[in-house]
Amino acid sequence: QARKVSREPYVQFRTHHRDELQRRQRIEEELRRALTVDPSQLEIHYQPIVSTDSGTLVALEALLRWNHPELSSIPPTEFIPLAEQSTLIDKVGAHVLATACAEVAGTPQLQQVMLCVNVSRRELTNGKFLHRLRETCEQTGMNPRSLCLEITESALAPLESDLLNLLRDIRTLGVSISLDDFGTGASSLSELYRLPVGILKTAKAFVDALGENPNARTILAGIVDVAHAVGVRVIAEGVETPTQAATIAAVGCDFAQGYHYGRPKPLAEIVAGNLAISTTTATQPDA
Ligand code: C2E
Ligand code: MG
Ligand code: MG
Ligand code: MG
Repeated sequence: QARKVSREPYVQFRTHHRDELQRRQRIEEELRRALTVDPSQLEIHYQPIVSTDSGTLVALEALLRWNHPELSSIPPTEFIPLAEQSTLIDKVGAHVLATACAEVAGTPQLQQVMLCVNVSRRELTNGKFLHRLRETCEQTGMNPRSLCLEITESALAPLESDLLNLLRDIRTLGVSISLDDFGTGASSLSELYRLPVGILKTAKAFVDALGENPNARTILAGIVDVAHAVGVRVIAEGVETPTQAATIAAVGCDFAQGYHYGRPKPLAEIVAGNLAISTTTATQPDA
């Protein structure tokens, strides 16, 4: 009896660990298969980024979705980190960049709208990235000035001179760079002057904290002030409520993204909807 009690957690741990490894292996294999022989499993959803003053749509963030026929829907927070552990992320990234550029550049109603694409460190440092970027813009008709790459600040650490030079070359092409999830990594505002970054996306945690911690608003306002002082604009991510929308506008965030303005959707649904999303619900009476 005593023996059974003491052994069980160990056995459970081993079983769980093995299942987990098998699941990860399966996901990796299936993702590779989807990319090579069945890309229709992969779909890009687009989430609006709006101007906080006018409420107009200024950009769309491409977010990858994977509908596997058997495995129940696997979120990007699960399959992207897995893909990042191997060169699979190169294939994922190339697919998203090419597909999103083709879809958005091919939509006449979206010619004034920026396209934001997430890029992982491993793609940036594979030695082929700049070439791929230039080629993709040429082949899809995407104007580089309408393209923005979202890179998390943790993806830029450590920032070797090769990587910094690549970021500068990307800027020279006309493509913008935004620092994603700012404030979650070992970020420092002091690094900002070194980076050829035009936009900061503050991590959702800042917006979440607004209702909970009285200092959160002050910190967000401080980040916005420093960013503006060095010519960087700010997107507040993860805005879910009218109150949050009003607060981030009041502290001077230039742009906003979140369920309050719109969820990620297929491009056809974005185009069919109202492209001039109004965001001023916080100050408007409920109609
Ligand atoms: P991210 O780039 O920070 O994207 C924002 C995430 O927050 C998205 O999750 C989006 O659906 C979600 N979100 C947006 N507004 C709200 C809100 O108001 N509330 C809440 N709770 N969530 C909100 P998603 O689509 O699950 O993507 C998760 C992460 O996966 C992304 O975070 C990004 O890091 C990564 N990812 C997604 N697609 C790609 C891709 O094509 N390439 C790469 N390298 N990474 C990707
Ligand atoms: Mg992003
Ligand atoms: Mg983010
Ligand atoms: Mg968001």
